[in-house]
Amino acid sequence: MKPLVIANWKMNPSSARAARALFGELRRRLARLRGVEVAVAPPFPYLGLTRGARPFALAAQDTFWEPSGAYTGEVSPAMLADLGVRYVLVGHSERRRIFGDDDAAVNRKLGALLKAGLRPVLAIGEERHESREVVPSKLAAELGRALGGIGRPDLPRLVIAYEPVWAISTAPGARSDTPDHATSRAIYIRKLLTKLAGRRTADRIRIIYGGSVSANNAAGFISRDIRGMEGLLVGGASLDAEEFIKIVRSVARHSTARI
Ligand code: PEP
Repeated sequence: MKPLVIANWKMNPSSARAARALFGELRRRLARLRGVEVAVAPPFPYLGLTRGARPFALAAQDTFWEPSGAYTGEVSPAMLADLGVRYVLVGHSERRRIFGDDDAAVNRKLGALLKAGLRPVLAIGEERHESREVVPSKLAAELGRALGGIGRPDLPRLVIAYEPVWAISTAPGARSDTPDHATSRAIYIRKLLTKLAGRRTADRIRIIYGGSVSANNAAGFISRDIRGMEGLLVGGASLDAEEFIKIVRSVARHSTARI
């Protein structure tokens, strides 16, 4: 599967002009890219600026589950689809911690996104670092509740982002996961998916890694010889054009190199 690299700009940059400049630079310098799919997730007001984002896919950072109506401040999946958005983050740890998105809300958002034909990127991850032998129950709980009631035929459009909360660059004392540990978590998540949805469906779902990804460590997370991590969710480093371009190029080189 072609690796997917998603830039999560979070609530940055602080002006449309800066957003346009960052996006323009990425687009110019990555135009001929092969072997990797890149998606950019700007804040909502900048989605229009990055519309028609080729060669990138457009992504959003969140959604509400209702299609329209009296929901001040919210944005629906249909609106995102209309703007050409392909991927939408749901259940990011910042949404869960700061804005109170619980598993029930994540489940409703995920269902609404699939119904609108979009591709949800479901973030799951544990708060504390545990060795690969100790698998936190939170992973199975978050995954099971997020996918409750979702029909199997829709599931291959899902992307799972394994984002250990302790590895996100803004967490106190954050450090990135190791490729080995992240791969073991990808294998475990695929096992959970197999239990929930059957092997054929589970095999079609992409699992990606997020947490303090940089140009120095990016390629190491992408598995080539086994079904491990098949992409990256990049937060802080995606705001630095130079760094993000290096990340994408290193993943592209790694994935197209002969094994
Ligand atoms: C994120 O918050 O999605 C993330 C991966 O952040 P960072 O790359 O800054 O750790």
